[in-house]
Amino acid sequence: MRRARRRSSSATAALAPAAAAALLLCLAGAASGPTAAAEAGAKGAAAPAMPAAGGGAASAAVPDLDPELVAFYVDLHRNPELSLHEEKTAAKLAERLRWLGFEVTTGVGGTGVVGVLRNGAGPTVMLRTELDALPVEEKTGLPYASTVKARNDAGLEVPVMHACGHDVHMTVWVGTAARMVQARGSWHGTLVLIAQPAEEVVKGAKAMLADGLYRRFPKPDYVVALHDSPRVPAGKIGYTPGYLLASSDSVDVTIYGKGGHGAAPQTTVDPVVIAARTVLALQTIVSRENDPQEPAVVTVGSIHGGTKHNIIPDEVKLQLTVRTYSPGVRRHVLDAIARIARAEAAAAGAAREPAVAVVESTAATWNDPKLTERVVAALRRQLGAGNVVEARREMASEDFSEYGLAGVPAVMVRLGAADPEALAKATAAGVELPSLHSSLFAPDRDPTLRTGVAAETAMLLDLFGKPAG
Ligand SMILES: [Zn+2]
Ligand SMILES: [Zn+2]
Repeated sequence: MRRARRRSSSATAALAPAAAAALLLCLAGAASGPTAAAEAGAKGAAAPAMPAAGGGAASAAVPDLDPELVAFYVDLHRNPELSLHEEKTAAKLAERLRWLGFEVTTGVGGTGVVGVLRNGAGPTVMLRTELDALPVEEKTGLPYASTVKARNDAGLEVPVMHACGHDVHMTVWVGTAARMVQARGSWHGTLVLIAQPAEEVVKGAKAMLADGLYRRFPKPDYVVALHDSPRVPAGKIGYTPGYLLASSDSVDVTIYGKGGHGAAPQTTVDPVVIAARTVLALQTIVSRENDPQEPAVVTVGSIHGGTKHNIIPDEVKLQLTVRTYSPGVRRHVLDAIARIARAEAAAAGAAREPAVAVVESTAATWNDPKLTERVVAALRRQLGAGNVVEARREMASEDFSEYGLAGVPAVMVRLGAADPEALAKATAAGVELPSLHSSLFAPDRDPTLRTGVAAETAMLLDLFGKPAG
């Protein structure tokens, strides 16, 4: 692996981009694109250009992985970077795209990378990956587990881990880029690859759009992405037409009372008691005010007030997260939080109204139904109908929503990342495998990467007007 990389980097330096791409593809073993492999498989004569990594049992329609791409994944996994600090990761991706002959722009909306491959007249399709990792201490025990520590924005040293699998997405994105270059004789249009920073703090998509993503670069006709899932077995893709992920609003509520001695409550307005009532009353928004057919979540994740047993504090702070799908439900829930907070304070005789502020928001992620139907058909042709399954929508959130809200049909599919046997056992036992953001999250690496590349390539080729299989 090291040998191949050294050769490719020194050799490409002296070559024109197209020749460099061809050489890299040769070294990367991407010479058998998914369509070629599918055709070869149909004739019973699949012959990958290079030996497969680990000799996995890939189907004919899912070409095996190259060891070099696995090494790229391992390097990303070992070297995660926090949101808004993805400099080295972004540089690695930019370097790959340059090797492949893309026009590459870095520093878009922070550390974002945009790669453009112009391949004649045709649609423009954008494929997105995220760059960032999480402040989580990895406990998977993998030989390539992260031991990285970094300073967060508050100056504290924290462990860092790709606990959301964005390293999977980046690797698949690079593998797909190589396949699209290799297959460029069989599709026409403009491929825009973006690597987005700061997804975990839902800032990166807005930042890239504000930095001219749809103005400075070819505006896409379609936007496509995938996200790994520990609830879907590796080898399969999950899809969800319509709402996929919820909107998210972070709400700060500060309740103001009147502090004093804990032994003289009659001289105070106790904000701890107001906060306790408020937390319980907030739970009636979903249970009593909301249409049961419309999903909504109100969670009070943090409550802070006071310093000592016998002191009634002046104020208590609550931090909430609100999840909804429809904009009307979202507005109602946010209004109800403010109304209840004010009413509970008034009921206690507080002189000052609580402060209620929405401090961070992201909209619900909507999968354009027609686009979803189209990519699902392409995925079924490529992976087999049984490997493309409808997946439940979730109340988690993503800023991928922004690309669709900016006026372009968008779809995100779920990439199965669970070891199929482990998932079957867990399901039978009624337990869940480690979730995304868990210190134990470990994707079933090779089949996940392999299926991801096949899936993204199939979706892109279809959207460029070429049937994928
Ligand atoms: Zn995440
Ligand atoms: Zn994620």
